[in-house]
Amino acid sequence: MAALNLAGLITAAADTIAAHAEELTALDQAIGDGDHGLNMKRGFEAVRAEAEMFAAKPVPEALKAIGTKLVMTVGGASGPLFGTLFMALGKEISAEPDRTNLTAAFGKAIEAVAARGKSQVGQKTMLDVLQPAHDALVVGKTGSEIADVADAAAKATVPMKALRGRASFLGDRSIGHMDAGARSTALLVRTIVEMLERQP
Ligand code: ADP
Ligand code: MG
Repeated sequence: MAALNLAGLITAAADTIAAHAEELTALDQAIGDGDHGLNMKRGFEAVRAEAEMFAAKPVPEALKAIGTKLVMTVGGASGPLFGTLFMALGKEISAEPDRTNLTAAFGKAIEAVAARGKSQVGQKTMLDVLQPAHDALVVGKTGSEIADVADAAAKATVPMKALRGRASFLGDRSIGHMDAGARSTALLVRTIVEMLERQP
């Protein structure tokens, strides 16, 4: 893996979230409180505003700092969870990550999210995208294959019943809608893996 173009990744992630903010809001309106698009946009715009500062740091420190910034700016339930994901990734990743290290670090970061959220796969949350994306990375799938796995995994949350987060208050009425955090996670996975794949 070549040196990471972190500033480019941040810009691409913030662009994706901005372009899909209304869609994320609509998903969260159906079975939550309708703030997920705004929460994510606020957080990723805050990270974008300091992209050069983050990119100047070594990869582990940059990811930890991005995670801290997301905790402070996203808010809601998802802020601490996405923040934990990036902070734990920063803790586990090496300064010059290869695929093996990235895969291991991503796995540990997912465990950290599950611990923070007291949640597990199958409960209609972001974990239902993170885990399949990690599994696809483990078995050696390409970036665009991993992105497709993440999209399919987000769609697969539609028939699930929410057992964590606000949507769980609806019980069976949460069935039939895509989880907003699963969708935002799939969007981020696609943006990141496609950019990593394009890098020489
Ligand atoms: P809030 O639910 O506080 O309004 P957001 O709308 O920003 O926060 O985020 C909601 C998303 O967070 C959900 O769609 C779900 O994917 C994720 N989420 C909520 N609670 C948990 C949890 N305990 N574990 C994992 N993910 C969770
Ligand atoms: Mg919400």
